[in-house]
Amino acid sequence: MPFTALNNPALRSWIDIQPTSDFPIQNLPFGVFDHPEGHGPRVAVAIGDYALDLYALAQRGHFDELPELEKGLPWVFRRGSLNHLLRLGRPAWRAVRQRVSELLRHDNPALRDDEEAVRECLLRQAGLVMRRPIKPTNYTDFYSSIEHATNVGTMFRDPANALLPNWRHIPIGYHGRTSSIVVSGTPIRRPNGQRKAPTEDAPTFGPSRQLDFELEMGFVVGTGTALGSTVPVAEAEAHIFGLCLFNDWSARDLQSWEYVPLGPFLGKNFGSSLAPWVVTLDALEPFRMTGPVQEPQPLPYLQTSGPHNFDIHLEVALAPAHGPETTISRSNFGLMYWNMAQQLAHHASNGCNLEVGDLYASGTISGPTPDSLGSMLELAWRGTRPLPLPDGTERTFLLDGDTVVMRGFAEKNGVRVGFGEVRGTVLPAP
Ligand code: CA
Repeated sequence: MPFTALNNPALRSWIDIQPTSDFPIQNLPFGVFDHPEGHGPRVAVAIGDYALDLYALAQRGHFDELPELEKGLPWVFRRGSLNHLLRLGRPAWRAVRQRVSELLRHDNPALRDDEEAVRECLLRQAGLVMRRPIKPTNYTDFYSSIEHATNVGTMFRDPANALLPNWRHIPIGYHGRTSSIVVSGTPIRRPNGQRKAPTEDAPTFGPSRQLDFELEMGFVVGTGTALGSTVPVAEAEAHIFGLCLFNDWSARDLQSWEYVPLGPFLGKNFGSSLAPWVVTLDALEPFRMTGPVQEPQPLPYLQTSGPHNFDIHLEVALAPAHGPETTISRSNFGLMYWNMAQQLAHHASNGCNLEVGDLYASGTISGPTPDSLGSMLELAWRGTRPLPLPDGTERTFLLDGDTVVMRGFAEKNGVRVGFGEVRGTVLPAP
């Protein structure tokens, strides 16, 4: 069976799945939950409203005939992250997803008709405690939306020369920190830090007054490289396991004071939120699209042809402490100027090794219209255009108690492949 057959819109599951669900049989994203009866972490696949416990499935022998998995059974599904499964190699994780797809097909009785197994393996997602799906080995944040980079350059530097001279030549990025990357639902504490407004004579230390979110997609490397080797851009996507929603919380006042000359530091690393489900690149194949025209043409090692962007609708919602949730931005991952293949090829171009479990974030995904901007900084234009909320309040930046929720999905031929959500609530500074 060709691998793309798992994306066939005609596939149906014996599980009842709403058409609005992010998790039809064509998706099958991976995550990790804590077993509710205290049996430790379990690797799972999301299907409809359920999480399918792969450890329980493995114990029942459902993966026994997969030679790719042999040395990993069943312990690889009882680890606190997907890293161990990824290390078994691309053939292994592909074989798992293929087997799960077969087991969930409406015409396969193997699991469907085994009531006891269904009770044990299929858990309602509601109420499950999810973990970070991966333990990020390294973390790099790019800056690849031309709209976002232009907006930031316009606000902070010079509207006539908003993009720095290198921007159209290099997928700009910086190395971040993994220790503070948390799973969706983890509260985010407003950081204290050093800040100095242009109107102030001297810096002060205290709670950030410009706390922000950044709407991003993260991608996870599933196949590493050796130190000293490079990755041709045409082969870069083969190193990617999957994608997930990512909120790169940012303290703008700390950031704008500290970033010269070495770049982002404490304004960024106090917390970043990762969605619990990683959608495989394989599941996103039907949603490829051609990205923006790149002018001037990038250097040869960054030149791609064909569709390397992905048409993924993205939304940001904000809910005040005791108020309703309001959608404040709608954007699309397909707008990104630099695609993931270019980001990865550039990252490896100096011989720096990629590692299994590496997390790469896209950079803020802003669109061309005022309602498609991926940060409060842009939505409220550096505090000059406060954003009204239905509860009568307005925002320039985030307040304590605010909850930010990001959602995303791709849709085509009646199939919706979704990412679930990444959410976080702002707590007061310590
Ligand atoms: Ca960012």
